[in-house]
Amino acid sequence: MPVRHAARPATDRQVAFLRSLAAEVYGEDWEATLRREQPLDDILRDSKRTSGLINFLIERRDAARAERKAGLFGEERNVDGLDGRPDVPAARYALTAPDGSLSFWQVDRPTKGKWAGYIFVKSLHGSPGDFRQGRVTRGEQTDILRRIAADAFRDGDRSLTGPEAAAVRFSRHFTVCAACLAPLTDEESRARGLGPICAKRF
Ligand SMILES: [Zn+2]
Repeated sequence: MPVRHAARPATDRQVAFLRSLAAEVYGEDWEATLRREQPLDDILRDSKRTSGLINFLIERRDAARAERKAGLFGEERNVDGLDGRPDVPAARYALTAPDGSLSFWQVDRPTKGKWAGYIFVKSLHGSPGDFRQGRVTRGEQTDILRRIAADAFRDGDRSLTGPEAAAVRFSRHFTVCAACLAPLTDEESRARGLGPICAKRF
């Protein structure tokens, strides 16, 4: 004769964990919100159903944490997109550290979609055709944009300043246009360090 096991109620540990998760997901009024969505008393009478609810809350909590983290990386809304940061054109840039080493950066300025008008900075690793992008915190993005805007580069007998300087340094290092990555083939582009159309951006 099969034995029917009565459901075991949630353990104290489960209840405590569930309360802390629910508070993180729903805030102060977590209990009222949770009761609107779930038959809480029934669930707490069954340890297995409580586990299910805990797993559901863990997923919501992790999604909320991922959203907050995305905000940290500069994907949060601001009024003019630049949010007081220097107006640096979309292109790739090379910056020089005090020890002479180079670092490479990509500035994106989406013109369509929900990020239109915003400015984003990523770090670049590798070489043209095989660049890998790294994420940069919002604070570091601002710092990089300021360094690009304040850059200066002596290119032969020309003194370049601002974004054009950091872009030409990139072009000279990789022998491609810093804006579109096209190889600099004709003499004028090579002399200038940027392709003829892309040079107008700076
Ligand atoms: Zn170009």
